[in-house]
Amino acid sequence: MPRKVYIIGVGPGDYKLMTLKAVECIAKADVIVYDRLIGGKILSFARKDAELVYVGKLPDCHAVPQEGINAILVEKALSGKTVARVKGGDPFVFGRGGEEAESLYEKGIEFEIVPGVTSSVAVPAYAGIPVTHRDFCSSLHIITGHERPDKEESLIDYENLAKLNGTLVFLMGVKNLPVISSRLIRCGKGGQTPAAVIEKGTTGQQRVVTGILSNIADKSKEAGVKSPAITVVGDVVSLREKLAWFPRGPLAGKRVVVTRSREQASRLVERIEELGGEAIEFPTIKVEKPSDLAHFERVLNNLGQYKWVAFTSVNGVKQFFEIMKEKRIDIRGLWGAKLCAVGKATEEELGNLGLTVDYTPDKFTTKELLKGLLERVKPGEKVLLARADIANVELSQGLKAAGVDVEDLIAYRTVVDTADKDDVMELLDESRLDFITFTSSSTVSNFVSIVGKENLHKLTGAKSVCIGPVTAKTAAEFGINVTAVADIHTIDGLVDKLVSISEE
Ligand code: SAH
Repeated sequence: MPRKVYIIGVGPGDYKLMTLKAVECIAKADVIVYDRLIGGKILSFARKDAELVYVGKLPDCHAVPQEGINAILVEKALSGKTVARVKGGDPFVFGRGGEEAESLYEKGIEFEIVPGVTSSVAVPAYAGIPVTHRDFCSSLHIITGHERPDKEESLIDYENLAKLNGTLVFLMGVKNLPVISSRLIRCGKGGQTPAAVIEKGTTGQQRVVTGILSNIADKSKEAGVKSPAITVVGDVVSLREKLAWFPRGPLAGKRVVVTRSREQASRLVERIEELGGEAIEFPTIKVEKPSDLAHFERVLNNLGQYKWVAFTSVNGVKQFFEIMKEKRIDIRGLWGAKLCAVGKATEEELGNLGLTVDYTPDKFTTKELLKGLLERVKPGEKVLLARADIANVELSQGLKAAGVDVEDLIAYRTVVDTADKDDVMELLDESRLDFITFTSSSTVSNFVSIVGKENLHKLTGAKSVCIGPVTAKTAAEFGINVTAVADIHTIDGLVDKLVSISEE
């Protein structure tokens, strides 16, 4: 049975401009066929086992021809797969979505169109330019700038365009801007008409060049504007002086690398975005099940004997209860045990399960935890310590030394995650990163092992910021020049530090 093809627009760049329907269709597809400029964040809504087919331009500029893309869509659908054809902006606004739908129609394959937020309207909006305004114009014209107006075969009627008082929005016109603007002026459009070129609109890299029709091509060339960019010509451009609103905030325009695992990155990513920055997720760590599941099971089957159960991280809590659930061991097995959590987030994670923590140390150091536990645990009592494979053994050793009967349980393993390497390497190569954040020693060591020691010199343009002194020490040992360490060793403390050094 052939399945459906969803032809989906995902907006111009900011992934939060995706529609709910786009997210839903991408999440259910077996195959994602996507173009250039579709960011990793958008693809992260796909199922983990979805097949990803890239059909955009490669660095050597060879794109899959349109017939090739049509054929892929047909073939995948006929083989019984649900296909998400993912495009920038809106699929029917210079998106060739119509051609793709036609080819599906010809083969009798069912399809749905999921409209997207088009760059022709949203990119000016992010630059503070409303494409229509009652005081300035009464129409909006979206035009391809791909055709050279001086070519015979140009289908665009510049004579008439120049006469319109509506706003003109040119897509795909960076290269042709000099001919477009001079042709418009020759056809009678005022050289003084306000104009703007907006590059990579709605993203953290948005740049806006403003001028008038007669100088906008030169100004854009001087600024080195590259595709993707759109050009707006019309009096509405002058409103930008009052309405420019993006990017705003203390981290506006700053690109911040987040090296935490994908599961743990969300709070840091959210805070960076809230403050106007662009968070680049580069998870260096993946959390996996421990290798010794038999030990785990033995522990879970004897939970009743522990007076205290200590969790040193959110991951520890997550894995512990996930495995408990898998092994069908009832949470009431913990009845009678006191709970210790290291860090507010760990306490919250337990709280989400309806468990109230009996002790959380004020400071998140092994020393403090050991001291606190020893004040509470009597010699001979059994304590279960659920920790990461790479956690230091000081805590269990200290407890043992004091005569406590410690069960040292490896609740999860951390492994190096190399999945997102390419995007970050490209940014590193081009020195386009402002900050790199490290939230634990393992994010540092994994980062170095993924990027390669030989490439660390490329970090010089970016500032490295660590969550605490232990992480900073590891970074320094790897030869990373640490710019700053958070005063309070939490995610919020780290964000405060980013803000304060941005303001310097
Ligand atoms: N279907 C898309 C347009 C595809 S044509 C839409 O509805 O937006 C590609 C052109 O769109 C680019 O050459 C550029 O002119 C424009 N464009 C797309 N994303 C953009 C962005 N983030 N900033 C500026 N222009 C963008």
